[in-house]
Amino acid sequence: MDTVTQEKRSEIMSRIRSRDTKPELLVRRRIFAAGWRFRVCDKRYPGHPDVVVPGAHTLIEVRGCFWHRHGCSKCSTPKSNIEFWQAKWERNLARDRRHEAEWRKLGWNVIVVWECALAAVRREETLTDVCRALDLWKSEGPLPRKRPHRLVLPRRS
Ligand SMILES: [Zn+2]
Repeated sequence: MDTVTQEKRSEIMSRIRSRDTKPELLVRRRIFAAGWRFRVCDKRYPGHPDVVVPGAHTLIEVRGCFWHRHGCSKCSTPKSNIEFWQAKWERNLARDRRHEAEWRKLGWNVIVVWECALAAVRREETLTDVCRALDLWKSEGPLPRKRPHRLVLPRRS
C-alpha cells in the first residue's frame, strides 16, 4: 500500500540521494573535471591516502567529522558506550596525525577536506579552493620539497 504521495516520495528520495553522495566523490569529480589525474586509496603511501595528485605533489584526505572529531556541529557524542567511542576516536586521531606527518616528511603537500566543508552551502567555495591550491602548487616543481603546504577546509568551522 502506497501511503505517501508521488510528490512526497520524490522529495524523500532526493533527500536520500543527496545524503548518500560521498564526500570523496565530490572532490574527485571536481578535480577530474578540472583536468587533474589522480590515484585513489594509493597503497604505496602510509594510510592509503584518499586521493593522490602527482601533478601537484599533493595528497587529499577527506575526513568524516564524526569519526575524526572535527569539533563542528556534526560531531555529536553518543550517549552510551562513551569509553568505547573515546578509545576509538583517540586511535583515529593518532592515526591521522601519524600518517600526515609521514606524508609531509616525504615532501607531499596535504589538503584535508572535512566533510562539513562539502555541505551544500559551502561546497562550491571548498571545491574552488581545492582546485586553486592544486594549480598553485603544481607550478612549484617536483618533490622533495622541504616545507610542503598544508591546507585545511573549511578554513574555519
Ligand atoms: Zn566538520
